Amino acid sequence: MALITCSECKREISDQATVCPGCGVHIEKNINKRAQATLEKVILKILPVAIFIIVIIFLESVSKPIFRIFGL
Ligand SMILES: [Zn+2]
Repeated sequence: MALITCSECKREISDQATVCPGCGVHIEKNINKRAQATLEKVILKILPVAIFIIVIIFLESVSKPIFRIFGL
């Protein structure tokens, strides 16, 4: 167990604590972890959609000259 300094009141608190016992502020390290987990969830949701859109745009750009050949 290590001690970290609270970003708000500068007290030394346990790195296991989620809130500072001195001022009640949420520990930044844990907020960052939570933000990172949320970001990863968002990326995992967006990534397949982004890949799908890229594939559609790619197929669109590839298929246009083919349609032109067939006079469409
Ligand atoms: Zn504090």
